[in-house]
Amino acid sequence: MTKKNKLYNNWDLVSNIINMEFKKILKKHNKSYTKEREIIFNVIKKLHHFDYSKLQDFLERKKINIWRASIFRTLNLFLEIWILENICNRSWVLIYEYIDKNNHHEHMKCKNCGKIIEFDDEIIHKDLEEIAKKYDFKLLAHSITLEGLCEECKK
Ligand SMILES: [Zn+2]
Ligand SMILES: [Zn+2]
Repeated sequence: MTKKNKLYNNWDLVSNIINMEFKKILKKHNKSYTKEREIIFNVIKKLHHFDYSKLQDFLERKKINIWRASIFRTLNLFLEIWILENICNRSWVLIYEYIDKNNHHEHMKCKNCGKIIEFDDEIIHKDLEEIAKKYDFKLLAHSITLEGLCEECKK
């Protein structure tokens, strides 16, 4: 069986429908559609906070083969078109999260155990709007990650 066939055969494990929303997003950014990109898109929506190895494990369990370089290229593309967020700014291991417009939140990351805590605060959003306004900056998106020690680790 060729690699391509294998990918297609396992396709319905990831999604049963062709994702029109995804096609629209790509089109809007002048990026081309590929099955691989769509598979990765559907997978990242299922994973919560994830790094490359978590994504790779998921694909492996579903018997989907996508080259490492191809996965990274796709993740970078998703970052570029704002459907994916990188939520750790200073670590070797990049942690990603799908940007769900209906579930916006910020993060706190424990420097010691790696735990990620989600939070959301109206005041921050108002402040960011104000700051952007002050600099005549059109705010399109933001991503905030606080680094520190969690309740357990600070003891
Ligand atoms: Zn901790
Ligand atoms: Zn999150």
